[in-house]
Amino acid sequence: MRADVTDSRPLDSPTGQDGAQTATASAYMTQSLAALLEASAALHRHLCPRQVLGIRMGMWAAELLALPLPQTDKRVLAIVESDGCFSTGVSVAMNCWVGRRTLRVEDFGKAALTAIDTVNGCAWRIAPHPHARSQAALYAPEATSRWESMLLGYQRMPTSELLTAQPVRLNTPVADLISIPGHRVTCAVCGEEVLNEREMLCDGRVLCRACAGAAYYTVISG
Ligand SMILES: [Zn+2]
Ligand SMILES: [Zn+2]
Repeated sequence: MRADVTDSRPLDSPTGQDGAQTATASAYMTQSLAALLEASAALHRHLCPRQVLGIRMGMWAAELLALPLPQTDKRVLAIVESDGCFSTGVSVAMNCWVGRRTLRVEDFGKAALTAIDTVNGCAWRIAPHPHARSQAALYAPEATSRWESMLLGYQRMPTSELLTAQPVRLNTPVADLISIPGHRVTCAVCGEEVLNEREMLCDGRVLCRACAGAAYYTVISG
């Protein structure tokens, strides 16, 4: 793995936050970007611009939500809008994982993140700044390729030039996304167990989504 992973300066503050930074958040921001880059790259055996983007988004989410990240509990839910390297960066920076039920993928094919405080419902959607790609080269004059200029530039750019953020409200309440621990029913058609209140009620019968007609697959018979 290569790349400029030695820069551990705190990143700049988000705009539009009353300048209010909690002690926790600022302590977090001094945490080494380099360490997160190392951790992410170790999972992929390479470092790439999309991982950097995911990490920078996860780090900014800590400031926007004024919560310490990577988290040690399950308070923050992350929704990423694509899978792949970008999502690994987000996972490492926030400690949000599918396996911990703190990461969800809404596959819109975008390198965007919504970070949600499940305690108060506060949610921010973070996306790349429209000019991030073109501006990256200014921060990496030594880069020998466009790819490398993004890899290095994304690590060095001020947050305000790299990312944008908007407060959002989830269309599905966060309580419904998380659901009730231990809730389970059995589908009346296939007999399979359905967790997390993902069942559907059809004509008085409890069905899994597949049997209710929303399957993503077709069984090949024979
Ligand atoms: Zn990659
Ligand atoms: Zn079923």
